[in-house]
This record gives sequence, C-alpha cells and structure tokens, in this order.
Amino acid sequence: MTLPTDPAANLAALIRCASVTPAEGGALGALETMLKPLGFLVDRPVFSEDGTPDIENLYARRSGNGPHLMFAGHTDVVPVGDEAAWTHPPFAAEIANGEMYGRGAVDMKGGIACFVAAIARHVDKHGGPKGSVSLLITGDEEGPAINGTVKLLEWAASRGEKWDASVVGEPTNPDALGDMIKIGRRGSLSASVTVNGRQGHAAYPQLADNPVRGLISLVDALLHPVFDKGTKDFQPTNLEVTSIDVGNPATNVIPAKATATFNIRFNDTWTAETIQAEIHNRLDQAAKRKKYRPGKKTPVDYDLVWRDRPSHVFLTRDDKLVDTLAGSIKATVGKGPTLSTSGGTSDARFIKDYCPVVEFGLVGKTMHMVDERVALADLETLTRIYQRFIEDWFGQG
Ligand SMILES: [Zn+2]
Repeated sequence: MTLPTDPAANLAALIRCASVTPAEGGALGALETMLKPLGFLVDRPVFSEDGTPDIENLYARRSGNGPHLMFAGHTDVVPVGDEAAWTHPPFAAEIANGEMYGRGAVDMKGGIACFVAAIARHVDKHGGPKGSVSLLITGDEEGPAINGTVKLLEWAASRGEKWDASVVGEPTNPDALGDMIKIGRRGSLSASVTVNGRQGHAAYPQLADNPVRGLISLVDALLHPVFDKGTKDFQPTNLEVTSIDVGNPATNVIPAKATATFNIRFNDTWTAETIQAEIHNRLDQAAKRKKYRPGKKTPVDYDLVWRDRPSHVFLTRDDKLVDTLAGSIKATVGKGPTLSTSGGTSDARFIKDYCPVVEFGLVGKTMHMVDERVALADLETLTRIYQRFIEDWFGQG
C-alpha cells in the first residue's frame, strides 16, 4: 500500500472537496482515507445545537507507548467570493508556476496535508512514533465555531483522551516559511455602552439631557489613559471603538439614546475579570465628570452590556514543545523563528485548557483571498519541519 507521503497529493485531494462551512464536502472522508493505512483509528462525531447547522468533525488516534502529541486544525474553508476572479478554479487544485491554487491551500488544508505527509514519512522510516499521535480536526472553525473544537475536545476528553502537547497548523508565517511560531494570544472582549438621555429641542438643551455628551465622556475615558505599555511577551493592550450609533435623522432634536460598541485586546497584565473591572471603574468615574455636561446634576445614566464570551489571554511556557519546534525550523530552513503572541484568536484558545499548545503552519499571505495558493516548495519544507519535530519530540531523531 502506498502511504500519503506527498503533501501536494494530499492537499490536492483535500482542495477538491468543496468544504465551505458548514459543508463537509468529502474533506474529512478524504482525510480518513489517508490516515487509515497509517494505523489511525478514526472517529467522525457530528455535533448539533439549536439554531446552528450540524457539523461533522474528525478525531483520529494512532496509539503507542509514550507521550501523546495532538495536531489540530480544520478542513472547512471560507467562501470563494467572486469565482470568476480566480485565475484557476477554487476547487481544482491546479498547479501553475510552482504554486497550487485553491480555497484552503494555506488556511488550512495545506497544514493538514503536510502533517499527514510528515507522519506517513515517519511511519515509513521508523515504523511509527514512540507514543501516540492524534489529529483533532473540525469542520467548524470559519463559521460559528459552536459545533467544532470546543465540543470535540470535550468529547475526546470524556472518552479518556489526554494530551501532552498540541500543534495547531494554522498559517502563522507572515512572509516566509519559518518566520513565526505563535506561542500565545491576547484575550478579547467586546461590549456596548448605551447612554440614556432625555429627548428635546436642540435650541433648549437645558430642558433635555443630550446622551451624545455623556457618551463622549465615557468613550474618552475608555481611550485614555493607555491600559499598559505591553509586556515581555505581548503587545500593549488596545481598545478600539468599533461603532457609535445614535440613529437620529433630525438636526434640531436632541436624541434620547446613544450607543458605542468597543473591542479590547488585552495582554497578560490583565485577566478578563480585571480588565472588565477596570472598564466599569473608568465608566463610573467618567459618568460623574461635568466637562461635556455643564449644569447637569446627576451622573451620566448608562448601561454596559458585555457581548459573547470572553477569549482569555494565554502564553505557552512548555520549553520542550516550543524549543523542539523552533529547533526543527532552524534545522530545516537555517533560521530560527520569532516567538509571537500577535494577531487574532484561534482554536488554540480552547486547546490551551487541555495541554500546552503552539501554532505553526504555512505562509498566510493569501488566506481568505481570491487566488489563495501555496508554493509546492513550502509544502515540502513544512512537511520536513513537521517530520523533524515529530522525530525530536518523541526522541527518535
Ligand atoms: Zn484557519
């Protein structure tokens, strides 16, 4: 039996499955076909929740005596956008000038294709790792992410699965393969603050209470002073006001309500709880200020509503995991990676509750774009990095 040692062949098989969230599109089936000859036991749990589409997921484990390494990722992809704008069709895996085109080429079917090829080469060379390897692959990363990684982790853990380390194969490199490992992420919180005023005539402000004046006070307090200057591992905490809504079409009417929405990306100076307390404190102080509301006797009347669940900040301090991966990159491309905590959230924020986790995959330049594509040379390099990492992490180098 031929083993799936060629990352380009693996990727072509995955790209040809049109797995735009929430469709499985055959992608998990194609992955299962690759993993079975390598000795993996494959499960395909489907998760449901009212108001969201059912989602197929995959958990595959190759058991051995020793530590347990988990590779995590997703086979779902974002929509293709304007299909006519693609130089090569988005689900054809055509190759031109040494690059394979297709939706998911870098985000992140390519990462999965390389990891499978790396394991296949390892099995070919060593007969298998000295321990267990699993793949935790969701079909719901680019969508609502409700029936995906969170439930898949709970499902696997409830069956007794325990992991010692995890690598997420998302595209982490800004320019060239080997640039960057992500070893943590900032936390994220969103909220809306609504000021309740009193409607009135713009010529008689003393008879009204303009909520826009109050909101300016509150927003000012959210933006100043800065929350911190950043830490050894993280950028400074940042708050962005993402919307200000009054919805008042009249120029001579003082409106009754004004709302601002904001998002905070916070570093390890804070927890979700302490940054929320800081926001409450700033707003309460600002509500009493008279600067924009001369003559008003009562503080600004406002409601603060936190949106969604917070993403918690995390930093992975597992030396074996980080050093082994960084060493594999240096040995393969000749240059060590930057260890970064920049960028948005990913499914690593859920995995970190189960085991140390880092992220390393392809170059992200074309992700989510028309003409998403990957250099065949990058597929080979990433496969070699993963293969070297598997050897060294299991001590089989
Ligand atoms: Zn992704």
